[in-house]
Amino acid sequence: MKNNKRVLAFDIGGTKIASGIIEFKEDSYQIFDYQKNKTPRNGKEVIQKLMELIVYYKKDNSFEKIGIGIAGQVDYKNGIVRHTPNIDFSDNTNLKKIIKETIGESVKIQNDVKCFALAENVFGRVKKYHNIVYLAIGTGIGGAIEIDDKLYRGENNIAGEFGHMVIESNGKKCPCGNRGCWEQYVSGQAIEKLYYDLYKQKKKAKEIAIDSASGIKKDKKVIKQASLYLATGLMNIINTINPVVIVVGGSVVRQDEILKLAKKEALKKVLISGRKTKILKSRLGNEATLVGAGLL
Ligand SMILES: [Zn+2]
Repeated sequence: MKNNKRVLAFDIGGTKIASGIIEFKEDSYQIFDYQKNKTPRNGKEVIQKLMELIVYYKKDNSFEKIGIGIAGQVDYKNGIVRHTPNIDFSDNTNLKKIIKETIGESVKIQNDVKCFALAENVFGRVKKYHNIVYLAIGTGIGGAIEIDDKLYRGENNIAGEFGHMVIESNGKKCPCGNRGCWEQYVSGQAIEKLYYDLYKQKKKAKEIAIDSASGIKKDKKVIKQASLYLATGLMNIINTINPVVIVVGGSVVRQDEILKLAKKEALKKVLISGRKTKILKSRLGNEATLVGAGLL
């Protein structure tokens, strides 16, 4: 990596758009002018917001390139956003072309979890490992698979879409069109729904996690339930992919409790040879995707 390279990076998720200028040094990075904006409901507005932000950053900052991580299926080579279940983009939006034509900037675009994987690999705690699965659990569940140090994309770049692994046949409806997908049971929204179904009260996933950690029974029940679903998915991943380590990031695991419970449960039930799998929380935390987008 060249010294002190400055890039503009975006992390476009289902609920927020994070952005910032990232300065990369030899073994570290620093983020400047970090911003978090709500993701607009409508896809056109998302693109407009993105343009506004680029123009804003251009005014006061110098940067060489732009990298974007987005929650969805991406054609990395051509900069096309194929499908975004949690953002209202039209399928096959050529975001790269739109940005080039509107404001003349060239960008690189990649799936958000693949960005997260890249950042963890360069700056995180898994540098020394091979055969890794990455999971980001927030609005949905995204994943990435690295085999022998190479990102495994699959034939059509959808490998690692663990959020749509079915864990309950004929279960809850998912925006992907199927039923019973994992992310319908463990994402932030899923946890809020679980709480609502039990107590007929609305409560933010973040608060449920905090209150559960501080011992409030009602919240503990919800986190315990969600952790069992989390464990089911982890088990499936361990038994089918057999990674040395699974790195888990995203807002849902910000509090340690849910991942700790799930880890215990999953490792108890996986095939004997999978019981040594490490399940680690991402050290880069919320910044990981943004940093990875910058690394593109
Ligand atoms: Zn689905």
